[in-house]
Amino acid sequence: MHRLIPSRRLRRSLMFCLSSLLILCLSVFPTSPTKAKTTLNVAIEPTFPPFELLGKNGELDGFDVDLFKAIAKAADFDLKFQTMQFDGMIPALQAKTVDAAIAAMTITAERQKVVDFSRPYFKSGLAIAIPANNKNITSLASLENKSIAVQIGTTGAAEAAKIPGAKIRTFDAAPLVLQELLNGNVDAALNDAAVTLYAIKQNNLDKIKIIDQLLTEEYYGIPTPKNSPSLDAINKGLTVILSDGTYDRLYQKWFNAKAPQLPETVNFAKSNSSVNSTSSIIFKAMPNLLQGVLVTLYLTAFSVILGMIGGSLIGIARLSRIPLLRWATRAYIDFFRGTPLLVQIFMIYFGLPALMQGFGINFNLGRLAASVIALSLNSAAYIAEIVRAGIQSIETGQAEAAQSLGLGTVETMRYVIFPQALRRMLPPLGNEFITLLKDTSLVAVIGFEELFQQGRLIVANNYRAFEIYAAVALIYLVLTVLSSRIFSWLERWMNPVNKSREADLEIDSK
Ligand code: GLN
Repeated sequence: MHRLIPSRRLRRSLMFCLSSLLILCLSVFPTSPTKAKTTLNVAIEPTFPPFELLGKNGELDGFDVDLFKAIAKAADFDLKFQTMQFDGMIPALQAKTVDAAIAAMTITAERQKVVDFSRPYFKSGLAIAIPANNKNITSLASLENKSIAVQIGTTGAAEAAKIPGAKIRTFDAAPLVLQELLNGNVDAALNDAAVTLYAIKQNNLDKIKIIDQLLTEEYYGIPTPKNSPSLDAINKGLTVILSDGTYDRLYQKWFNAKAPQLPETVNFAKSNSSVNSTSSIIFKAMPNLLQGVLVTLYLTAFSVILGMIGGSLIGIARLSRIPLLRWATRAYIDFFRGTPLLVQIFMIYFGLPALMQGFGINFNLGRLAASVIALSLNSAAYIAEIVRAGIQSIETGQAEAAQSLGLGTVETMRYVIFPQALRRMLPPLGNEFITLLKDTSLVAVIGFEELFQQGRLIVANNYRAFEIYAAVALIYLVLTVLSSRIFSWLERWMNPVNKSREADLEIDSK
C-alpha cells in the first residue's frame, strides 16, 4: 500500500505533462487545414490536337490542357480529368456528372441555352478540307450535293447540315473525319481550321489541303452546368492568365504565333425560341427515328438471313466426320464468340481495307456492307452452336429407325432429324434474333445511321438526351417484344401436339 502512493503521484504528473504537451502542439500546429482545395471534374476528349491530345507517355497534353492547368493554378483549385466523347459532354454537364469540360468547344447560342460558358479563350473558325488535287471545290457554295465528313455534335456538323443536297457522313472523332477524306470516301471534310492545319503539318498529309477562306468566326469557351459555382473561379483564373502573360506564352508554345485580341463576351442576336415540351421534342424527332428503325430492320433482316445460312452450314460441319472441318469450325466459333462484336466491326471496316491496301489492293468497304458482314459473321457463330445442339438433341434411335426404313443420310436429315431439331432450336434462335436486333446499335460507331445513331444525331442538335434516348429505348422494346411474340407464335404453330389438338377442335365443332 505504502508503495502505491508515489506511483499514483507519478502517474498524475505524467498525465499532466502529456496533456500540456498536446495543448502546446495543437496551438502551434493546427491539425485540420482551414481551407480544402476544391477539385473540378473535367470532361475531355484527347483526340483533338493541338487542343487535346495524348503525349508520348500517354499523358494528357495540348493547348487546352495547359490553359486549364494554368487557370486552376491561378484560381487555386484542382483538376481531375475524365475522358468522354465530344457529343456526350453537354448531356454530362446538364446531368452535372462533370463540373466543366475542356474541348475546344465553340460558344454558340444553342449551347448557351443549356450550359454556361466562361469568357472566350480562343479565336477559331471552320475550314473546308479537300483532296489536294481537287480544283472544283473552292467555296461553301461548291459543296452542294457533295459528300462531306464531319464530327458528331460539332459546329462543323451543324454548318454541313445547312448545305443543300450534301450527303453527310458523321464520325465520333476528328481523326476519323480526316481518315475518311484521306481514304477518298468523301469529297470534303468540315472541321476547325487549327485542327486540320495541325494534322496536315504534323503528319505531312500532302494528299489534302484546306481552302484558305474560313467559313465562320468562332470563339471557344469552357462550359459548366447552368448556374455552377465553379464558373466564377474559372473566369477569375482565366482573367489572371490573360493579363499576366501566361496565355500569350502558351499561345506561342502551341501555335508559334502572337495571340490575337479576345473579346470579353460573345453576343448573339436574341432568338425568341422557347424551350420545347417533351412531346413536341419527340414528335419532331419521330421522322428521323422511324427512318432509323427502317435501317435497323433491314440490317437485322440481312444479317439474320446470312447468319442463318452460314450458321447452319457451320453447325452441320461441326458434326462432320472430317477432323479438319471440325477443327476449323470450332476455331471460327471460338473466335467470333470470344472477341467483342465492337472490335470485329472496327477490324472489318477500318482494318480490312488498310490490310488490303498494304498488299497494294485498292479495297474499300461501304458502311452497309461492313455492318452486314460483321453482324452476320458474328451471329453465324452463335447460330452454328444452336444448330449443332439442336441436331444432337434428337435421339440416335431416330436416325437408325429412318435408315432401317431405307432413307439415305441426306433424306434422314431432311425429313426426320431437321424438322424435329428446328422446333427445339426455335427458342434459342428467337433469343439470337433479339440479341442481333439490339446489337445493330453497335454499328453506330462507324457512323451508320441506324436507330441509335439517329438518336445520337438528334441529341447532338437539341441536347434533350433523356427524352430522345427514352424514345429510342422504347422503340427497341416494341421491336423486341414484337419479335418475341412472333417467335412464340411460330413455336406454337410448329408444335405437332397443338396442331393435332386444333384439328380435333375443328372436327368437334363440325
Ligand atoms: N469547336 C467545335 C465545336 O465546338 C469542335 C470541338 C471539338 O470537336 N472538340 O463544335
